[in-house]
Amino acid sequence: MSRKTFSDYKKSIDNDIRTIIHKGKNVACYKFPFFQTILEFAKKDITHITREMLAKPHVDKIIKHMKKSPFQGQTGVRNGKMLQSVKDHIDGKINIEKLLLITEKEGFKDVIRAFPVVGTKKINNNIYSDEIKNNKKIILHDEFLELAQDSNLVKLLDAGTDSRWDLQQRVWEKKIHPSAIINYDENSKALIEVRFNQRLHLTPIKPTLTNYQGDVCFYCRRPYPLNDLEIEHFIPLDLAKQFYLKNNKQLKYNLNNLGNLVNACVECNGPKGKWHLYFPKKQFWYELHARNEQICNSEKPLEIILQNNLGKTKEERLQKLIELRDLCIELHMIEWDGPTEIFNSLQYYKNN
Ligand SMILES: [Zn+2]
Repeated sequence: MSRKTFSDYKKSIDNDIRTIIHKGKNVACYKFPFFQTILEFAKKDITHITREMLAKPHVDKIIKHMKKSPFQGQTGVRNGKMLQSVKDHIDGKINIEKLLLITEKEGFKDVIRAFPVVGTKKINNNIYSDEIKNNKKIILHDEFLELAQDSNLVKLLDAGTDSRWDLQQRVWEKKIHPSAIINYDENSKALIEVRFNQRLHLTPIKPTLTNYQGDVCFYCRRPYPLNDLEIEHFIPLDLAKQFYLKNNKQLKYNLNNLGNLVNACVECNGPKGKWHLYFPKKQFWYELHARNEQICNSEKPLEIILQNNLGKTKEERLQKLIELRDLCIELHMIEWDGPTEIFNSLQYYKNN
């Protein structure tokens, strides 16, 4: 086998596997331990694998992760019995032999068939063939076995699977829609969580915001192609910094939350982005509130994010924005008038 070069990786089985791990469906955690398990067999060059052989390594991994977090699936998932049995085992209610029998019977109902599917399409046929029905086993394919001989790659895929699994646990725990709290990091091919008040690459959220404010700049309202709009923190991240400097504690508001992000053109984002202490003048805060309420009325998971960050009711959310604006003033940040000339020519606030 010739050593793969980096450029060969573009259309390859390992990139397909990354796609499965990151984007494939998961109503429960099963695809993660299943993949790590077949990778282990492939490393040992074992090709014909029965459910009995899969059970122990598969369930060991679930036990390990469940000890870190009990949230291993969406509530009410099929195969609930499997996860419940793992929990019962951890609680000392059933022994490992019983758990292994349950795993054999319940643990692979969907995952063997569903693993290579992303969306509605099977994206790779070269990992294994599913012969459970006729021969009670899966058979690993040569290309996958070959991949497993590359020990660095195996380490990367294994660790990548673990970190994606950890993240998914937090998503289930917080009951938040994954697309809103995570970003896809092109460089590391890893999913990252939107962290509290740290500067982040937020571009993946741009299309989401376009659904609510249209293909226009939030401030000047001129239309732009999506590529010419930038994600902008309405209240700058510097609020958190100023707050910390003054009070010596963290601001309890995540400025990276959806309700504080808008799409803006370079012209508007330019001056505001350059002066990190700028906050928009009052009218824009009402605009933001109106935009946020649209988001709340559209999709449940997005509504939950705004509720968690700003408040349960419309009134509470407006009140929270007013408080945050007062805080900007208190911390001597600078009010930004917005693109005044453009504004006047459009007479945007004529009626406000
Ligand atoms: Zn603009």
